[in-house]
Amino acid sequence: HNILHEGNHDMADTLDTSHFWMPFTANRQYKSRPRLLAAASGMYYTTDDGRRILDGTAGLWCVNAGHCHPKITAAIQQQAATMDFAPTFQMGHPKVFEAATALARMAPEGLNRVFFCNDGSESVDTALKIALAYHRVRGDGLRTRLIGRERGYHGVGFGGIAVGGIAGNRKHFGPAVPGVDHLRHPLDIARNAYSRGLPKHGAELADEFEQRLLALHDPATVAALIVEPIQGSTGVILPPKGYLQKLRAICDKYGILLIFDEVITGFGRLGAAFAADHFGVVPDMITCAKGLTNAAVPMGAVIVRQDIHDAFMQAAPEDTIEFFHGYTYTGHPLASAACVATLEVYREEGLFDRAAAMAPYFEEAAHSLKGLPYVKDIRNLGLVCGIELEGVPGKPTARAYDVFQKCFWDKGVLIRTTGDIIALSPPLIIDKLQVDQLFAAIAEVLKTQQ
Ligand code: PLP
Repeated sequence: HNILHEGNHDMADTLDTSHFWMPFTANRQYKSRPRLLAAASGMYYTTDDGRRILDGTAGLWCVNAGHCHPKITAAIQQQAATMDFAPTFQMGHPKVFEAATALARMAPEGLNRVFFCNDGSESVDTALKIALAYHRVRGDGLRTRLIGRERGYHGVGFGGIAVGGIAGNRKHFGPAVPGVDHLRHPLDIARNAYSRGLPKHGAELADEFEQRLLALHDPATVAALIVEPIQGSTGVILPPKGYLQKLRAICDKYGILLIFDEVITGFGRLGAAFAADHFGVVPDMITCAKGLTNAAVPMGAVIVRQDIHDAFMQAAPEDTIEFFHGYTYTGHPLASAACVATLEVYREEGLFDRAAAMAPYFEEAAHSLKGLPYVKDIRNLGLVCGIELEGVPGKPTARAYDVFQKCFWDKGVLIRTTGDIIALSPPLIIDKLQVDQLFAAIAEVLKTQQ
């Protein structure tokens, strides 16, 4: 039912949109016809003019339990009325310790020390700093190099853009952090088009990591390799079978820390708590955010292997600060309350199992788009899927943007696009009818593409 008043009808016409400099947005294009979301519940947004929009992207890959979950809302409301803020520098409050304990219990075995921050970008920068400092406190301070991958997205902090592999995010900002190198990304449509689940070909790309280490860098100078188990933001690039296992083995061989950036893949996206669980490859640190609080309050975290944490404790006298890092809002009470409630919701409602159970149906629906105009690849795992389109010649991104617009305005479906790739990642509560609606909308729009 429509909870908005008739009077809101003209909001898009009367709203002054000039002052908000919008992030990762074509500001002038957007402001010429604003798309406004005004309310949300479960699988749906409601626009300012009262239309219901099926959320095919869980906001921005983050609202895993569905919008405005009553238990999470209540926890935040109660915390806001009880204690708005408390520092966590030389102080504490119960909720942040509860949140860390709950997260450690959900994480792969051995990863049980938690550093909180406010979002994915901060979790990446925090993890990179832990990696550098860890080697140093152990007397291995030559390990200063960081390695990422082409088409990796690790947020927008200086550390994150340095290890990230998206030219647009880097080129205006100089050499953010020196001594960084990148591996190739494993997307190979020529060999792996329309793969369901993990692609067959490409595990050998992981061997290139070792060759690079030996040919270009002394491996003893490398602190950490950071990878997204699935590269989400650049269009759902899946790891070929055996690839992550190889990266793990090479890191072990040379004493390099392996960081999984699970900002997208964490909290049930693949039908397990973390991609690490799904793939059976345990990194040394996991960065996470988004689904950590169901996105209701910003929060990020780095989950760290206990002995990495303990190395800091052993290196400094007991009455000194062991790690010079932290944020005013580390473990903010509202975020901590949202985190505790969210992790409970995931468990109580069995949402990770639900995602795993829905994944085969989602896969069938996704691959039913094969053969439609301009579709050149479809790839999926868990409740994530990428549909790569043939671009309009000379106008990269135009085709996908047009599909996105038509899905929103004509079909009442929110999808996400990156380049000419559609990326879908619905809340884990999606049902079969909604899966049908999502892919039917995209199919109908694709059929009208000129
Ligand atoms: N890392 C990954 C893998 C991401 O997908 C994202 C955001 O999409 C980030 C980091 C950055 O997170 P945030 O936007 O919360 O800073």
